[in-house]
Amino acid sequence: MSIPDAEPSPTTPRIRLGISACLLGEPVRFDGGHKRDNYIIGTLGRFFDFEAFCPEVAIGLGIPRPTLRIERRDSLPRVVGVRHPDQDYTDALAGHAHARQERLAGLSGFIFKKDSPSCGMERVKIYDANGAPDKRGVGAFAAEVMRLFPHLPCEEEGRLGDPTLRENFIERVLIHHRWTALLAHGLTPGALVEFHTRHKLQFLAHNQAGYRRLGRFVAQAGSHADLQALAGEYQREMTEVLRRRATPQTHANVLEHLAGYLKNALDEGDRRELQQCIADYRTGQLPLIVPITLLAHHFRRHPHPWIAQQYYLRPHPPELALRNRI
Ligand code: SF4
Repeated sequence: MSIPDAEPSPTTPRIRLGISACLLGEPVRFDGGHKRDNYIIGTLGRFFDFEAFCPEVAIGLGIPRPTLRIERRDSLPRVVGVRHPDQDYTDALAGHAHARQERLAGLSGFIFKKDSPSCGMERVKIYDANGAPDKRGVGAFAAEVMRLFPHLPCEEEGRLGDPTLRENFIERVLIHHRWTALLAHGLTPGALVEFHTRHKLQFLAHNQAGYRRLGRFVAQAGSHADLQALAGEYQREMTEVLRRRATPQTHANVLEHLAGYLKNALDEGDRRELQQCIADYRTGQLPLIVPITLLAHHFRRHPHPWIAQQYYLRPHPPELALRNRI
């Protein structure tokens, strides 16, 4: 089998995430401080290894250093010194991403520091000629990382506080990791079909139309003249599918679909209990983990080979408790 285990554990090879160094508690900020994030270090750190990047230090700005900001010059965003706006660091910061391409290529995701003119992933302040800011900027280093690696799952530490975004990010990281492993082990039509089959319910929870488009790519796997090109198309579509957030409605549809596999196995009371549980999740009275646990319980007693292959029922380590909130 070419696809690694469904989830990382202390005994499997550790998945590597890039991260803005200050989030790990490294004293690299302009004032010599840091922005240590206890959730990232204490919780995610049990399952993932981190590779720290501080682009401002890497380009020689030193600690402490003058503060930077993004200004709009001739309609283009430029990262400049606040006190010395003639000093433009944009190209150097983007160049640091280029220089580290090899390290970046080995990552399964990246956590950026929000609001930073170098590391911010979105909604960073850009100042116009009058000194008025709007929040439509992207940090120069982060922008280049995302341009070079458009399929790399990226998130900001602030957004990881949102349970839906947090689960979506970790799910994308693990899928990206499995996809990279598949390519590293050798792409074959069978491996592509297996990858798709095992992720079907996850894709379905994100985007039903995209799920069908992915299926059409896979249907060509055995006959397509250029399997690499087909896999490239598949990955582009998969990135788009997973970018759309799964919602309680779309999850509930998948749960109903799963319940359908049990309709002949359960008695009337168990069926009603399962339906009610899914309905209560759909209306926000229960967290996703409750119907998932009930379904997993029934599938343990009434195994189904196709369901047993699906990552959906256990897409990430339960210890991360990513489905435990309403
Ligand atoms: S936000 Fe980025 S550039 Fe700024 S201190 Fe943190 S790692 Fe360094």
